[in-house]
Amino acid sequence: MTDSRIVQPGSRIGMVGGGQLGRMFAIAAANMGYIVRVFSASPIDPAAQVAAEHVAGPLDDPACVEKFADGCDVITLEFENIPADTIAACGRHAPTYPSADVLRTAQDRLIEKSTFRDAGLSVTPFAPVTSVADVQAFADEHGFPVIVKTSRDGYDGKGQFRVDQIEDCASIDWDAPDQTNGPAWIAEKCVAFDREVSVIVARTPNGKTTAFPAFENEHANHILDFSVCPASLSETMAARVSELGINAAETINLVGLVCVELFVCGDELMINEIAPRPHNSGHLTIEACATSQFEQHVRAICNLPLGETSMICGGAAMANLLGNVWKDQSPPMWSDALATPGVRLHLYGKTVAKPARKMGHLTCVSDQPSDAKRRVRSARDSLLHD
Ligand code: ADP
Ligand code: MG
Repeated sequence: MTDSRIVQPGSRIGMVGGGQLGRMFAIAAANMGYIVRVFSASPIDPAAQVAAEHVAGPLDDPACVEKFADGCDVITLEFENIPADTIAACGRHAPTYPSADVLRTAQDRLIEKSTFRDAGLSVTPFAPVTSVADVQAFADEHGFPVIVKTSRDGYDGKGQFRVDQIEDCASIDWDAPDQTNGPAWIAEKCVAFDREVSVIVARTPNGKTTAFPAFENEHANHILDFSVCPASLSETMAARVSELGINAAETINLVGLVCVELFVCGDELMINEIAPRPHNSGHLTIEACATSQFEQHVRAICNLPLGETSMICGGAAMANLLGNVWKDQSPPMWSDALATPGVRLHLYGKTVAKPARKMGHLTCVSDQPSDAKRRVRSARDSLLHD
């Protein structure tokens, strides 16, 4: 079911998924008077803790899907690996954004990259591979290093292998991923980028779009570590990033929110991947922009006017808080971080700390992005035990 009515504040929004993105979405939606119903495995999931209503159960259980979707006025999600049948069933009750087609594209790196390449957008050089011989042929054309990734189910660097020489393929178990839905592996040229940036674009059912200013991202162990806004880009490059983000959203006919991750190499921009939902790199919009990415997501799927995306400070930075900040499941002394001027704490209500698990984040706003980053780094450092 899709139509372009406005879903008025006070209506019920269904959110598939119970993580921190769903949690911050639910808070933003509740602020605007919506009733949020979360669908996730457990009532103690981060989003379930703050939602007005919760349906607990497996996302692929048809009875649970019915119970969740019945009565929702619009349905959305917080991660892209949702079973297609679940989205189809939700769509019989209410407009569901993003669509099953967008999910199919975003769930598979090969389909994703082919879609953008075929639309004339620049992507990292890639090819499907099934064997060491295929990787060698790809390297003959593009050179080493090559990054071999699973086409589906990868996140935070999971399912990725950096191949500096062909012998490095020895650790790849070619038969491990499920092959029933098409080629399971993709080779990409390892791009020697100057910086990584992302842009979050919102699009309404009527095709109205906005882009947030670009975020500059730094990863540690393949997990986002810092995001800084605005990114250090010339005005021309910043405008090209917005344009490319909007172009990508229109190419896949997205409704809702999409984050486009890009590599910047000189004056070249390449799409790395997209995520059709709020994104970790956009968390700083809560404090730094006139509208947060979560409110913008609500506005987009409800077909409301999109909010202003401009920054309301000179610079902002976000640092993720992973489970390594906890010691033997004991939280750190938060007061040490909060004593830093401009620093705000967000915790996701996760009960068990694991080293690489995203438990929360810190944001700092300031006059300058470099100063915001320095402060947020020092605030996080103050939490680390030895
Ligand atoms: P995911 O976020 O789903 O784990 P990504 O494709 O975004 O997967 O890879 C994670 C990180 O690994 C990227 O943000 C980037 O730092 C690095 N990376 C991935 N692909 C490439 C590539 N082709 N060239 C250079 N670096 C890459
Ligand atoms: Mg990524």
